[in-house]
Amino acid sequence: MTGRRPLVLHPERLFPADRSTRAVALELHQVVASLPLLSPHGHTEARWFADDAALSDPTSVLVTPDHYLTRMLYSQGVALEALGVEPNDGVATADPRTAWRTFAAHYGLFRATPSGLWFDHVLAEVFGVRDRLDGESADDVYDHIADALRRPEFLPRAFLDRFDIELLATTESPLDDLDAHGRLAREGWAGRVITTFRPDPVVDPGATGFTENVERLGQLTGEDTAKWTGYLGALRNRRQFFIGHGAVATDHGHPSAVTADLAPEQCQRLLDGARAGTLTAQQQELFRGQLLVEMARMSIDDGLVMQLHAGSRRNHNPLVFQRFGPDRGADIPGPIEYTQSLKPLLDLYGNDSRLRLIVFTLDEATFSRELAPLAGHYPCLVLGPPWWFLDSYEAMLRYRRTVTETAGFANTAGFNDDTRALFSIPARHDVARRADCSYLAELVVTHRLELDDAHDLAVDLATGLVRHAYRLGPAR
Ligand SMILES: [Zn+2]
Repeated sequence: MTGRRPLVLHPERLFPADRSTRAVALELHQVVASLPLLSPHGHTEARWFADDAALSDPTSVLVTPDHYLTRMLYSQGVALEALGVEPNDGVATADPRTAWRTFAAHYGLFRATPSGLWFDHVLAEVFGVRDRLDGESADDVYDHIADALRRPEFLPRAFLDRFDIELLATTESPLDDLDAHGRLAREGWAGRVITTFRPDPVVDPGATGFTENVERLGQLTGEDTAKWTGYLGALRNRRQFFIGHGAVATDHGHPSAVTADLAPEQCQRLLDGARAGTLTAQQQELFRGQLLVEMARMSIDDGLVMQLHAGSRRNHNPLVFQRFGPDRGADIPGPIEYTQSLKPLLDLYGNDSRLRLIVFTLDEATFSRELAPLAGHYPCLVLGPPWWFLDSYEAMLRYRRTVTETAGFANTAGFNDDTRALFSIPARHDVARRADCSYLAELVVTHRLELDDAHDLAVDLATGLVRHAYRLGPAR
């Protein structure tokens, strides 16, 4: 294919192929298309909004940090260095423009993928690019975006305003000083860009630098973190600090959903072993499992909503991990079990509606077999939206089809964009809203749902369920 090809987002994209269902989906979408965006879980950086400075070049903003993109090119033989990802062995990386050309020349790899849908949306809607991206248009598109990034309307705060992003949560370690959030609060942004308490670095004995992290946790809080009670006191203390900086939730990225309810002496022994680095893999799992129960107990006291993101086999490719570190697209989902794993936690707090535990999975089989039945029964449980590899049009439809008959809509948490790619946030919500409206339209045309109820549900799925699940309070 040669010559410029226009980039056009079809207004009816992602709606059902069948004409009558499509008409209902369109009607529902009109109700939700302009509702504000709520982003209660994600990985953008607070300092972007605190500094509110121009983001750098198109490649560093849109390509290099996006592991959804880099993994696909890597799978097709493109070196990560060629996309600007820096290795730790001093091998030179491509400059931004060269990396962009490489990306553009391979852009066809993303046909019919979520990344392709999102990226086209970013180009067309956010940056006003009029040509489809390919090797030929690469330089012009690069210049267009580079120019835009220097303009005030592309500064991070202006971007939140322009796309009506009402709430954006970042995710920080308990060891973070939350300086950026402090600055945001002083400038009137409290409650709009908020933090999330992610304790993995101090509760996962397998985390890099765990022993030093626990030591540091003690220094920050004045607690003796070598003692089980001091260690818990320190965690409680940091949760309060995070609440003071706007946190409404915690987030736990565990390999499994294992929970445990052990005696204090056993907890102390595990903590000793974790600090000494002597725990077996199974003991590490038990330790993390005990911490989930401790976090649930603390949540009942301080009201933070718990999120459990379980099942990612992180850094599956040792070579990539050694050279480039984590979050480079080498994380792979694995099978996961919830019903037995969560039982110790549910036996203690499953019936307590002061606890809200939002559970995510990368293992779709568990939606129908375990998660929808669990969330359709236990008052504390809510189902998170399709996550990561499942954050796609097809998986969203499968999710609704799989869980709705058992868990209804009210036991689901609405959408999370869960992204580190700031400019893709509107695109991700757009796909989710279109998928949800398509599903509701199917229910309407098969007379399983009345049209007026579908209107209400469309709003719930877009914003209402998120407000409820994360205890955000009513709309502005
Ligand atoms: Zn996340």
